[in-house]
Amino acid sequence: ETFEDSGFESVVLENVRRMNYSEPTPIQKNAIPIISKNFDLMACAQTGSGKTAAFLLPTISSLVKKISGGKLETIRRRGRGPFKASPLFIIILPTRELAIQIFNEARRFAYKTPIRPVVIYGGSDGYVQREQVSKGCDILIATPGRLIDMLERGNISLAHVRHVVLDEADRMLDMGFGKQIRGIMLSSNMPRDESLQTLMFSATFPPDIQVLARDFLKEDYCRLR
Ligand code: AMP
Repeated sequence: ETFEDSGFESVVLENVRRMNYSEPTPIQKNAIPIISKNFDLMACAQTGSGKTAAFLLPTISSLVKKISGGKLETIRRRGRGPFKASPLFIIILPTRELAIQIFNEARRFAYKTPIRPVVIYGGSDGYVQREQVSKGCDILIATPGRLIDMLERGNISLAHVRHVVLDEADRMLDMGFGKQIRGIMLSSNMPRDESLQTLMFSATFPPDIQVLARDFLKEDYCRLR
């Protein structure tokens, strides 16, 4: 199969062409059809496998399609006054380095679409990141602690989230982020119905990862090893 067979919106396919990817990698071939059909997924994938494009392309394409069809709106500040950003897609990952890397890829894939990606992470000044978020944020790429911080401050609402990715889930649990991840997934306005798609990527499948999948993926979720 090729990226052209994937059914992506043409603006997204154009961005793939700009990246000069000739052929989908194995994880992309396997995961893209599942994600495009809106199934939840737990996938075994190492860094370097092309997992980022595997989850970004079908989700971005689906959001673009819904926005251009009038089924979904990007939420932007109107006028003055307090503003809560309301991302459509959140990607939770363990480190600043990974956050920046995925943000850069998301920017390339969302180029010339109405979708605005924003990255937030701990260990640096929150003010600039809150400024970025307050300009409107459709894809939020975040480390767990900083996301909780902004939820508590009221900078971000999760009410319109349609897709969640837990990336490098095993590493997040190893780093002690389990409680924060649960806090985010169970936060009061996070949708917990059919409208939410949850995707987990992990290099390994220890029991704590299986428990996380059981707790947060839909019963008919797909597994890729
Ligand atoms: P990842 O595993 O997502 O960190 O991706 C590893 C690297 O492979 C990144 O630099 C991607 O831009 C690149 N990449 C992803 N998919 C493809 C593809 N289908 N063909 C060539 N390079 C790719």
